[in-house]
Amino acid sequence: MRNSEFSILHSRPLAYNGRVSGVSQESINAGTRFCAVLGHPVRHSASPAMQNAALAALGLNWRYLAAEVSPDDLRAAIAGAKAMRFIGLNLTVPHKTAALAMLDALDEKAGLLGAVNTIVFETPGPGGDWIPLGRAADEDGGDALPRHSLVRSHGHNTDADGLARSLKEDFQWPDPPAASDLPGADAASGLRPDSPLRGASVLLLGAGGAARAAALQLAGEGVASLFLVNRTRARAGQLAAEIAARFPAVNIILSLPRDPVDLVINATSLGLKPDDPLPLDEGWLKSRRPLRACDMVYRPAETAFLRAAKEAGCQTANGLGMLLHQGAAALELWTGRPAPVEIMRAALKEHIYG
Ligand code: NAP
Repeated sequence: MRNSEFSILHSRPLAYNGRVSGVSQESINAGTRFCAVLGHPVRHSASPAMQNAALAALGLNWRYLAAEVSPDDLRAAIAGAKAMRFIGLNLTVPHKTAALAMLDALDEKAGLLGAVNTIVFETPGPGGDWIPLGRAADEDGGDALPRHSLVRSHGHNTDADGLARSLKEDFQWPDPPAASDLPGADAASGLRPDSPLRGASVLLLGAGGAARAAALQLAGEGVASLFLVNRTRARAGQLAAEIAARFPAVNIILSLPRDPVDLVINATSLGLKPDDPLPLDEGWLKSRRPLRACDMVYRPAETAFLRAAKEAGCQTANGLGMLLHQGAAALELWTGRPAPVEIMRAALKEHIYG
């Protein structure tokens, strides 16, 4: 059988190559390196389309796979990928929390969020520091991976940064007010002084894994007020207590705002199914009219919540940008190179919306 017959990308990558002059992807051969997303289920994942388009554009002889891995097999799957010198992994539902206890090292964000969505396999570099296997290959001329016998798994979380990047991009958020205008905006507060989200008021719907990542990220970006609303109020209360302990400068309120807010985010699962109710009362949307509304759901492209928000006069964005930017950040960790974001966006849109 010829190499090309093994190609896992036979139907899609050539379409992307057309948008990137001078780029073509090698057939799978003995030098091909792998990344993968592990999930249960994983068949719905758009990450292979997005990441393989990016790998082709970067001219890397790598492939990105999707593997259905049950929770009982997660430890073995990570160990197997490490033993086979995979470049890295993404983790999706339900593995993000369980993986915390299975890795050799964790970055600060993954520790803070209590969840891992990206694993980088690393090896000692010439200076003794741990460097990603994907970059070690570059330093050794591209084919020396088998020489690296010592490898560790390093867990990261790019989900929350992905949300922040997408909010800034999708809403073209204007510059923040001067640092001195905000309470708690000093160096000791731990807030990011340069974030355009600083000083914003945000209503966050939900208190699950995605909402928790969003709340911690928004607090770290220095939002002034965070309104937390969840079906199970006690869960929102727990999240509020956690944010209050870590970010005392943020004003946290466990109810709907009386005044208009800068942003409302749907981080509940409502909207995934066509007959789901709205996560927020339509009357509230119309009377309080937030400036911006973001739905973490990206399929369908316009949920009933986004439609109602648009009718109420809000600027709207769905969750595609978050998905895109968490993937771009993961790719940058593996390669050490800027991700071809527009190629990844086009691949995602083509895969999800056809
Ligand atoms: P999760 O941990 O299971 O949390 C689900 C949340 O939705 C909880 O707050 C839950 O409230 C609420 N909820 C579920 N059913 C509800 C209902 N019938 N009525 C009211 N509230 C309900 O899920 P997750 O991982 O946080 O994901 C949440 C959403 O974000 C999903 O739609 C997911 O697809 C999306 N997401 C998107 C991206 C992206 O890249 N765009 C990334 C991550 C997640 P209770 O606490 O009361 O159960």
